[in-house]
Amino acid sequence: MEALYYTRQDTLAVTCQLCPHHCHIISGNSGRCRCRYNKDGMLTSLNYGQCTSAALDPVEKKPLRRFHPGHQILSLGSWGCNLACSFCQNWQISQEQAIFQEITPQEAVSLALREKKNDNIGLAYTYNEPTVWYEFISHTAPLIHAAGLLNVMVTNGYIEEKPLQALLPYIDAWNIDLKAFQDKFYYTLCKGTLAPVLRTIRLAAASSHVEVTTLIIPGENDRIDDMDREAAWLASISPDIPLHITRYFPRYHMDTPPTPLDTLYALANKARQHLSTVYIGNV
Ligand code: SF4
Ligand code: SF4
Repeated sequence: MEALYYTRQDTLAVTCQLCPHHCHIISGNSGRCRCRYNKDGMLTSLNYGQCTSAALDPVEKKPLRRFHPGHQILSLGSWGCNLACSFCQNWQISQEQAIFQEITPQEAVSLALREKKNDNIGLAYTYNEPTVWYEFISHTAPLIHAAGLLNVMVTNGYIEEKPLQALLPYIDAWNIDLKAFQDKFYYTLCKGTLAPVLRTIRLAAASSHVEVTTLIIPGENDRIDDMDREAAWLASISPDIPLHITRYFPRYHMDTPPTPLDTLYALANKARQHLSTVYIGNV
C-alpha cells in the first residue's frame, strides 16, 4: 500500500511527512518507525491491514472515563511506533516485529458491527502507535462512521498537522499521552519532542472529546512544578479535560521501581488546582 504524506527527492529517496521526524529514507530502507518503507522511490506502509492485537475492552480501559462510560469498544492494534520510549509497556509490538493477522477495513467494520450485541460502540486504534497505521485508519474510520459507530484513537500525539487535520473529522474521542511537560524527557527517554504533542492535544480538543494520560516515572517526570505547568496548560484549553495520572511499573529498558502512591496523590492534588477531572490510574 502506498503511504500518504511524503515527498519524492531527485534521487529515489523520499521524505516522510506523516510525523515530526520527517525521515529522509533512501530506497530499500525504512523510517524510524520501521513500518514505512521506501520501495524504489515510493513510500509504502508495511503494516497496512496487519493486526497484532484485538480485544473487546471496556471504554474506561483506553483510558476514557467521560466517553460512553460503561460500554465496550473493539480495540485493534498493529505494530510499529514513531517514538522509542525506554519504558514502553507494549514494546513487543511497538519496537519489535510481531505476529499479525491480515484484516481489511471492511472486515474491521464487520467485526465491530458483530460486537454490537456485546455493547460495542465502535473501534479503538490502540496498543501500538496508531499514527503509524495511518493509511489503514484513514480507510477504516469513515466506514465505521457510515456504519453508525464511533472511532477512538489512543495515541502519543506525535503526528504532523496536515495528516492530523485530515483525520480529525472521523475521530470521536482521543486519549493522548502527554508523557511529560519537558522537552528533555521526550528527547532522552522517547526520542521525540514535546511541541507537536501539545499541538495535537490543542487541535483534537477543538473538535472532539479528548482525555490526556501522563505516566509518572519516579525521578523523571514527577516534579510538582512540572505538573503545575502541565495542568495549567491543559486548563488553558479547557479546565474540563480529564487527566489520567497513571502509575509506572518497570518495563522494557527501564528498571526504576514503581511510582510511590504518595507521589501520585500529590501530583493529582496539584493538577486538581487547575482541572475539574483528575484520575489516578494503574494502582
Ligand atoms: S511516520 Fe515513520 S517514517 Fe514517517 S516521519 Fe514518522 S518515523 Fe519517519
Ligand atoms: S509512544 Fe507508546 S507505544 Fe510508542 S514507544 Fe512510547 S510507550 Fe511505546
